[in-house]
Amino acid sequence: MPKYVFVTGGVVSSVGKGVLAASLGMLLEARGLKVAMMKLDPYINVDPGTMNPYEHGEVFVTDDGAETDLDLGHYQRFTHANLSQRSNITTGRIYHSVIQKERRGEYLGKTVQVVPHITDEIKSHIRALTTGADSDADIAIVEIGGTVGDIEGLPFLEAIRQFKFDVKPNDCCYIHVTWVPYIDAAGELKTKPTQHSVRALRDIGIQPNVIVLRTGKHRLGPDEIRKVALFCDVYPKAIISAEDISPLYAIPIDLKKQDLDATVLKILHVTAAHSRLEQWEEMLRRMKAPSRHVRIAAVGKYTGHDDAYKSINEAFVHAGIANDCRVDYEWFDSEQFENGAKVAEALAPYDGVLIGPGFGGRGIEGKIETVRYAREARVPFLGVCLGMQIAVIELARNKLGLPKANSTEMAPDTPDPVISLLSEQRGVTDMGGTMRLGQYRCDLKPGTRAFAAYGEKTIHERHRHRYEFNNIYRERLEAEAGLVVSGTHNLGEHELVEIAELPDHPWFCASQFHPEFKSTPLAPQPLFRAFIKAALEHAASRI
Ligand code: GLN
Repeated sequence: MPKYVFVTGGVVSSVGKGVLAASLGMLLEARGLKVAMMKLDPYINVDPGTMNPYEHGEVFVTDDGAETDLDLGHYQRFTHANLSQRSNITTGRIYHSVIQKERRGEYLGKTVQVVPHITDEIKSHIRALTTGADSDADIAIVEIGGTVGDIEGLPFLEAIRQFKFDVKPNDCCYIHVTWVPYIDAAGELKTKPTQHSVRALRDIGIQPNVIVLRTGKHRLGPDEIRKVALFCDVYPKAIISAEDISPLYAIPIDLKKQDLDATVLKILHVTAAHSRLEQWEEMLRRMKAPSRHVRIAAVGKYTGHDDAYKSINEAFVHAGIANDCRVDYEWFDSEQFENGAKVAEALAPYDGVLIGPGFGGRGIEGKIETVRYAREARVPFLGVCLGMQIAVIELARNKLGLPKANSTEMAPDTPDPVISLLSEQRGVTDMGGTMRLGQYRCDLKPGTRAFAAYGEKTIHERHRHRYEFNNIYRERLEAEAGLVVSGTHNLGEHELVEIAELPDHPWFCASQFHPEFKSTPLAPQPLFRAFIKAALEHAASRI
């Protein structure tokens, strides 16, 4: 039977519960334990798939096609936990299934209530985490989104309160993560909000076993630790001072110095092997002392939110580790690129250009200009999902002489739908498009750049899109635009183009899939690695 660690947040949101949960997962794995991870989100959306990246940051996609909160990206990058549909549950999902059960008459005439029906449903989802591939998990780490005191979080907190009575004593550990403001005038860190937050948690019936205090630039002194321990009824050893640490990947090491893993294991009565952190520490050493650097321009539309392209940013960092370089990336809103001259001027200082994923028509023309610039100026280029579709549109317009070529997403009546819905491609219009989500097999063509990057013939990458390369244009794009389809997904009667490239260019690859979702600091993603390598070569050739 697994043990459970519940991670709640207090005082303010965005205190970094996700990274804390992920870091703890990493430390427990380093001691030979198997962890399973999940996030409970208190919003009504059934999943974050429909949420605007401006508001909520990136939607992270798992192998099995779950559209999830971006904290799962942290879990993926720090641990080996299996992430799936089971790993991210929202209030909307809980209510949806309770209401369905009610309609089916499964509650046998009972009044259906938050307690016990909603809380039972939440608990059954928590238990379901450690089934299937995770039935041998030693520890389940469950992060609860939001902040203690929020109305919508109450059913989740009530469920995890009850949970300790459903398992054996010492099977649950509650970690509360809070924010500690530093008051300049007093020259002090103030722990009062933490005390209030813990009081609010105790009102609900949860006594935290561990408190992690996020302290910004400062570190808690022994007096402050004693004070929090006394007022919050927690052992001083279980008070963790978590200041801002860069890079993010150094956080587990700092937590390890404060024995977070040992404290949690002691609470759970688990004995485990000594930590093996050599590989992680070696990665950090390489990351902190790169011998070179490279500048990448990333072009998108959700540039106003730091986390809108979180996994891409992290994939850059990982590819930097693999290439012994620091990757300085900057995001550009393509709307500012109304013409080729503007693009060339803005992007001239950069050694590589990426176009990221996106939905809708805003900024499309600027992205097309961006591809044209990268292609003609022979700057290494990586297109991701929409970035790949844009590359195809650019080639159709400027190499095939089809000035109105477009995706039917942006221009439903385009005479040249080089990107379109599969149903449209088959002449079926009433089916509507559903998203292609999750992992698909892709067969790579030997001799291509994509094949060289991966070093193997069969790969599996994750998708999240509706529109596809239109095979009607494939022959012409190959013959007249020099495009090489380097990887496809075989559907039997036809193939889906998954990745394509231009051989007559220093490095130009564009994938319909999202390579960033599988990148980790210990296993940098092959396409990103090859892209950054090409950008380094480009930088060297310019000197
Ligand atoms: N909007 C495009 C589609 O649905 C691309 C999606 C994406 O970039 N993730 O196909």
